[in-house]
Amino acid sequence: MIQKKRGKTVHIPGLTDLPPLPRDVPSLMDDFRHYYTYNLGRDKFCRSVHYHYKALALAVRDRLMEDWKNTRYACLDADCKRGYYLSLEFLMGRALGNAMLNLGITDATSKALMDLGIAMEDLAEAEIDAGLGNGGLGRLAACFLDSCATLQLPVMGYGIRYEYGMFRQRIVNGHQVEEPDHWLRNGNPWEIERQEYTQRVCYGGRTERYGTDDGGFRVRWVDTHDVLAVPYDTPVPGYTNGTVNTLRLWKAVATDAFNLSEFNAGSYTESVAAKNEAENITMVLYPNDASESGKALRLRQQYFLASASLQDVIERWVVISKGDFSDFAEKNCFQLNDTHPSCAVPELMRLLMDEQGMGWEEAWRITTRTMAYTNHTLLPEALEKWSLSLFAQLLPRLLEIILEINARFLAEVASRWPGDHERLRRMSLIEEGAVPQVRMAYLAIVGSFSVNGVAALHSQLLAQGLFRDFYELWPHKFNNKTNGVTPRRWLAWCNPGLGRLITETIGNGWVSDLEQIRKIAEFADDPGFRDRWHGVKLANKERLAALVQDKCGVTFNPESLFDVQVKRIHEYKRQLLNILHVIHLYDRIKRGDTADWTNRCVLIGGKAAPGYFMAKLIIKLINNVAQVVNGDPQVGDRLKVAFLPNYRVTAMEVVCPGTDLSEQISTAGKEASGTGNMKFMMNGALTIGTLDGANIEIREEVGDDNFFMFGLTAEEVETMRRGYDPGAIIEADSDLGRVMNLLTFGHFNLFEPGLFDPIIGAITTPHDPWMVAADFRSYVMAQERAAAAYKDRDRWTRMSIINSASSGKFSTDRTIREYNGDIWRLQPVPARCGG
Ligand SMILES: *Cc1c(COP(=O)(O)O)cnc(C)c1O
Repeated sequence: MIQKKRGKTVHIPGLTDLPPLPRDVPSLMDDFRHYYTYNLGRDKFCRSVHYHYKALALAVRDRLMEDWKNTRYACLDADCKRGYYLSLEFLMGRALGNAMLNLGITDATSKALMDLGIAMEDLAEAEIDAGLGNGGLGRLAACFLDSCATLQLPVMGYGIRYEYGMFRQRIVNGHQVEEPDHWLRNGNPWEIERQEYTQRVCYGGRTERYGTDDGGFRVRWVDTHDVLAVPYDTPVPGYTNGTVNTLRLWKAVATDAFNLSEFNAGSYTESVAAKNEAENITMVLYPNDASESGKALRLRQQYFLASASLQDVIERWVVISKGDFSDFAEKNCFQLNDTHPSCAVPELMRLLMDEQGMGWEEAWRITTRTMAYTNHTLLPEALEKWSLSLFAQLLPRLLEIILEINARFLAEVASRWPGDHERLRRMSLIEEGAVPQVRMAYLAIVGSFSVNGVAALHSQLLAQGLFRDFYELWPHKFNNKTNGVTPRRWLAWCNPGLGRLITETIGNGWVSDLEQIRKIAEFADDPGFRDRWHGVKLANKERLAALVQDKCGVTFNPESLFDVQVKRIHEYKRQLLNILHVIHLYDRIKRGDTADWTNRCVLIGGKAAPGYFMAKLIIKLINNVAQVVNGDPQVGDRLKVAFLPNYRVTAMEVVCPGTDLSEQISTAGKEASGTGNMKFMMNGALTIGTLDGANIEIREEVGDDNFFMFGLTAEEVETMRRGYDPGAIIEADSDLGRVMNLLTFGHFNLFEPGLFDPIIGAITTPHDPWMVAADFRSYVMAQERAAAAYKDRDRWTRMSIINSASSGKFSTDRTIREYNGDIWRLQPVPARCGG
């Protein structure tokens, strides 16, 4: 209805208020045929399934459009407070299945395609994952958007439209090889370019003061190199509720003026090069999970997101409120997904002061009432810091503001603790040293009214450890929001067999109110229900086994215990402990210690950051062990090992329904929450896990009897660190000794001598931060309890049912309700039907 072209708006009443599109089988079939024929120009001879996918995606997308528009109108009409989720990562995965599920048209669509002789499953496989994230943090953002839409909360996601998402992982001779993920190469039917909302983002240059009419002064940022931010909107449908929220992703585009001036200077090629430099900003996702890289381009990306998004919000606000900012803070709230977008704090200050003419006090009052920060990790290597010199060069105006924030903040600290210079040094936003640096986490804390961790233990450790000084100053800012996952994608969509069984037993209320799933616990002792549950799990294991056969060439017997660890490869997540256990099982088989054996298939998958040497070596070790174990006829079905390449959202949709045992074995105190653990639990896997992150809360919900707990606690880890002696542990434990012997004798690298020496060194050093050897015995014993439990099929199935039944807490609907109740305080906006 409003076509905006830089300052000019045109109303075209005839273009609004169309009737909703029908969702029955014949109209879906018609639209599919229409797009296939007239839009894509294909016919019956076209054999590329991609066009089938695209035609269906367009037909489904049409059915979101009116709801999408009406959701915007309803929000405008309600004049409601809005939330914005700022994240450098959104790990969305595929959109088609989710859209069909949330529209409630999966069955109708499947039928329509079947009538045309097309299998919907084949067609859905043609969609490339939107992999704009590394792991848990990015997937959390995606689950949050689903829950916000389902709860009808007016929340918009803001992120970056990376041209290249998370790299594709191939395994060559056991090594990880990275390939670029050009996910947009076939086009993306889910995004809509919104040129009319383009923003301008500035870099470089210098600042200058100038006097104002009223005798004051202001600052302007001049001689900047500007880049345009063009938004692309993706619809985010709620679950069968008529709400469609928006994910807005920014793409960097060179300004015309910039090119022209270069061109006029006669340097055509330089101007094209400059254009490339501008557009590089959104070229590629940084593939580091839980570790900062310090690259200038990354800081450019972070500022790009913060600046474009804030300008977008302010531009909308100025239209709605006619330039009056008095209740801006009451009507807007920004949630910062980790420190990545924390430039938003000084950037909002800049926009309010330099652009809107506000004084410091007023701008600071608004900023500190609209920003909220979520911390995602305690690992020191993940805490972002940027050198002052880089900041000064790239974002000089922001640095001035940060220094002013710091000066005022340190004055507050000094008045609270007079004379405590050590505390001032500790809390300063600037870390002194050879290279002075801005501590982004502290900037985020000082600029926010809320600081939260992502599981109870994590939030507690933040207050007691990492952010202790800040907790003492502002205890009221600190809170916990235990993560979750959306039950739409992670149960209803990815596990239709189990979903059907649950719905037939307790109705379908669980999909939007997961607490209801508790009702299936009553049927845990019903033999008929248990048989059906086991049957569904078996079918899912067959589906997973087919994937493993296809991707790894390893045959998994669905009767075996499926033991799975999929997540980013990181030393703190201890894939190494898992593989030591595998070697131990292999060793037992070779010694003939196989009485009462439980056959087991071990699946490990995950990407390593391309520059993370140890993580990549661990992948190689897993593959080498797999080759020895799988190739040994004496081992047979007792043990199989496979490394699943290119782990991603779409893979997890097959993996978690087919898993019996979920490996959540991080060193206690290191995994902030984990969300993979929740997906597995929801799908009826049992957890073998340490008392870390959300594992603790999972165990609380499911009961100790239904959880294989092992290992040191976070406290014990810190105590044991002093005087940690892995050599003595290996000496005292003959099983671990034998495993270490196989490694040191090179049993898994006979033709690659010395290859795994760094791994042996990491396990045996007293400085091993991950304490792998310390938890080995306890882990093996827990694995033995799991193996014994699996032998009793009824008992295992009962435990599996209890796990699903106890997963209600881990829906992001619960998480988002808590964010909204304690932090955002948004009113739900009911959908407006029919425009
Ligand atoms: C859920 C998920 C993760 C997070 O897994 P954790 O086990 O919590 O680390 C990472 N990657 C993908 C693709 C996921 O779906």
